[in-house]
Amino acid sequence: MAELQVNMFPCLSDNYGYLVHDGDSDVTAAIDTPEASKVNAALEATGWKLTHILNTHHHFDHAGGNLELQAKWGCTIVGSSSDAARIPGIQQQVADGDRFDLGGHSVRVLDVSGHTQGHIAYYFEDDAILFSGDALFALGCGRLFEGSADQMWTSLQKVMALPDDTVVYCAHEYTQANAKFALSVEPQNEELVARAKQIDTLRDRGEPTVPSDIGLEKRTNPFLRPMSEDLQATVGLVGAPLVEVFAETRRRKDVF
Ligand code: ZN
Ligand code: FE
Repeated sequence: MAELQVNMFPCLSDNYGYLVHDGDSDVTAAIDTPEASKVNAALEATGWKLTHILNTHHHFDHAGGNLELQAKWGCTIVGSSSDAARIPGIQQQVADGDRFDLGGHSVRVLDVSGHTQGHIAYYFEDDAILFSGDALFALGCGRLFEGSADQMWTSLQKVMALPDDTVVYCAHEYTQANAKFALSVEPQNEELVARAKQIDTLRDRGEPTVPSDIGLEKRTNPFLRPMSEDLQATVGLVGAPLVEVFAETRRRKDVF
């Protein structure tokens, strides 16, 4: 097993596409397919051959390139069993807690529903890398299109249980807007203030703010911080159950 290589590239207006590659087995997976032409361009640039697609959920900016890429490469499409009816070309169905091998790398499936039903994240456990799709963003979390706040909070707790040094690759460059909201609900968080400045600098240079890591998200992402007394005070729910604080934080972000 070689070290997992990750190739990241912008797609559409604010998505990230990813290729992961193992040099010994020559296995290459696309994490979602936001834009087939960009995935093909990344394959050409790296010289890798696409063997798998790992879908996080069915939204068009995540699975829209599936069929075109499958027709070209004959790759195996993996997705959630509870989202299977909506994932074009799905061949291998996985569910929460499943482990599968990808080119010698152990991948654990986390069901992180809330943004959609059947949204999954892929945790490469030996490599300490998480592909979080639209469940967890840098300084944010997915909108609740299909799930409840209760369900999303349960999902995010699974992610928070991963080791702090787990590298998080999310599916969108939303970080700068997320930082503005985060600062509005937890302005006293010094690490958040510093992170927001770094994010502004990166975006001024046109550079990505992704990836981050679980420890940094736990210390600065308001959706992982309903236990913060400052955040509780801002949303007027001091001492309330964490799920209620999370729900109110998510509701405020929707109208921010
Ligand atoms: Zn989505
Ligand atoms: Fe998306």
